[in-house]
Amino acid sequence: MRIGTPLGPDPTRVLLLGSGELGKEVAIAFQRLGVEVVAADRYPHAPAHQVAHRWHAIDMTDPVTLATLIEQESPDLVVPEIEAIATAVLADVEATGTTVVPTARATRLTMDREGIRRLAAEELGLPTSPYAFAETLDDVHAAIAHVGLPCVLKPTMSSSGKGQSVLKSAADAEGAWEYARTAGRVSNPRVIVEGFVEFDYEITQLTVRHAGGTSFCEPIGHRQVDGDYVESWQPQPMSDAALAAARDVSGRITEALGGRGVFGVELFVRGDEVLFSEVSPRPHDTGLATLATQRCSEFELHARAVLGLPVDTTLRSPGASAVVYGGADLEAPGYEGVAEALAVPGADLRLFGKPTASARRRMGVAVAEADDVDTARDRARTAAGLVRVVPRG
Ligand code: AMP
Repeated sequence: MRIGTPLGPDPTRVLLLGSGELGKEVAIAFQRLGVEVVAADRYPHAPAHQVAHRWHAIDMTDPVTLATLIEQESPDLVVPEIEAIATAVLADVEATGTTVVPTARATRLTMDREGIRRLAAEELGLPTSPYAFAETLDDVHAAIAHVGLPCVLKPTMSSSGKGQSVLKSAADAEGAWEYARTAGRVSNPRVIVEGFVEFDYEITQLTVRHAGGTSFCEPIGHRQVDGDYVESWQPQPMSDAALAAARDVSGRITEALGGRGVFGVELFVRGDEVLFSEVSPRPHDTGLATLATQRCSEFELHARAVLGLPVDTTLRSPGASAVVYGGADLEAPGYEGVAEALAVPGADLRLFGKPTASARRRMGVAVAEADDVDTARDRARTAAGLVRVVPRG
C-alpha cells in the first residue's frame, strides 16, 4: 500500500459523495493520512467541503451528473456518505475497476428499506420485527392486519425518521400513509409497515470489515426523538448473551454486504433477544461519541479500513455525545456559548459550520468523556445545552 502526494502527479484520491458532518470527520481522517480528498454535496460550503482539497456542488441523484464527476476526478476510492445517490452509476464505476466503499451493491441495498430487510430477514434469517410492504391504502390495511398494532409505517426510501409514524389503531392508517408518501426522499409510494418493538434499549453495533478480518466496537446506546438521534453513549451495558447475539447478527449482515469499512448496525434489545433493524454501510451518526471514547474514532476506522490499513477498536474511556440543533431558520448563523461549553470537564465540541440552520437541523455535537457513562452523558448534554445557534452578527 502506497499513499501518493496530495495535489501531486500521483495522489491517492478519495471522492466523498455526501459532505455532511459525518463526511467532514471522514475527510479529516483521510487528510491526516495524506490522502487527497474531493468532497461533493448538493449545496456549496457543506461541512466536508470546508476541509477538502476540492469540492463540488452537484445533484448526486442525477446519473449523468454523477458519472461525469467521477470521470472528471478519476478517484481511487468512491466513498458514499449519504443514501440519496444514483446507485446504478456506482455499479458501473465498480465494474470498471474503481473501488466503491464498501461495495456498490451494499450502497444500493441499504438505501432501500425493502432491499436490506429482505436480505436480513428472508435470505439470512436474522430476527427482525414482523413487517409487510404496501403501495396502496388497501395494502396498508392488509399490512396492519398482518403485523398487528401498534406498528410503525415508514417510506422505503427514507432515513432518520422522515415520513415515519407510529400507528395505534387502524384509523391512523390514512394519515400515516399520506405523510409517508409526501415526506419520503424520492417520490416512491412504497412503504414498510413494521410491528412496534417494545425494546429495553437500542444500540448501534459499529462493525469494521478490514484487511485483517471483522472487528467490533463496544456497543453504543442512543436515544431517539421522532426517529432522529439526540444523544448517544458508549459502552451500553448488555448481558453477555445479548452482546454475543448483537455481534453474531452484525457479523452476518456485514458479511453479506461485503467490502471494507465501518458499518453501523442498528439493533433493538429486549432481555437477551436482539432484533435487527437497519444498517448503514458507513459511519453512523450515533458513533459521533467515538470522537471522545475510542483510540480511533469510527471515522478513522473507516479511513484505515478502506485503505487496507490495520484498525484498533479499543475503547479508551466511557463517553457520550449530545446534538446541538439549529432551533430556528437562520442564514449564516453563528455559535455562542462555546467557551462555557468547552469549560465543562471532559467535554469537546464539533461545530459543523453549515451555511443555514433550521429548527431540527443538526448544527453541532458535544462529546464528553468521564469515568462512567452517566457522568459522560450529563457532561455532553450540559455542554450541548450551553451552545446557542444565533443569527448572523
Ligand atoms: P429508523 O429510521 O428505522 O432507524 O427509525 C428511527 C428510530 O425509530 C429507531 O431508532 C427507533 O427508536 C424507532 N423505531 C423504528 N422502527 C421501530 C419499530 N419497529 N419499533 C419500535 N421503534 C422503532
